[in-house]
Amino acid sequence: MDFLFIGNNLAADFVNTEVISQSGMIDLLSGPESLSKWFEQADCARGIKCSLQDLESAKALRCAIRRSFDRIIERKSIGSNDLELLNARSNELVRSLGGANNVYELKFRLDSCSDILALIAQTCCELLASKKINSVRKCASDKCILYFVDTSKNQQRQWCSMEICGNREKVRKHYDKTKGR
Ligand SMILES: [Zn+2]
Repeated sequence: MDFLFIGNNLAADFVNTEVISQSGMIDLLSGPESLSKWFEQADCARGIKCSLQDLESAKALRCAIRRSFDRIIERKSIGSNDLELLNARSNELVRSLGGANNVYELKFRLDSCSDILALIAQTCCELLASKKINSVRKCASDKCILYFVDTSKNQQRQWCSMEICGNREKVRKHYDKTKGR
């Protein structure tokens, strides 16, 4: 199964590495190699070697982000343990200024799994500290566990994607209608 990038946000896309299929929950981060592959496909970094311990840290972070998203969607406060983890991780992000001749740029160090987890945590913290916090959504399908940041103008996006859940819902409604006749 391919990774999904429908979240409009790195942290949301990271949470979406856990999906539900007809046969149940599937963790797309099935091993250290898949974590490395995700980093690549998410355009974070290429060729990062991840260990089993890295994978465990990644899953702990993913869990904290998901729980945080669930809390804010319910307009409840994020748990202190999750805040602590998000802060600790994002504080590991190393930035450096480089350049010359009045052209300088802030770059993140993205050389290891921890560096990238720090970037994901930092992206999550920035999202939650911004007005976009109110645009964090979970897909409207009760059979789906995908999250996204609604960037649509009218803030009416309901589905993770039309292809995955939007169409399924359309078909269901159509079926109900024709059956009710
Ligand atoms: Zn969905």
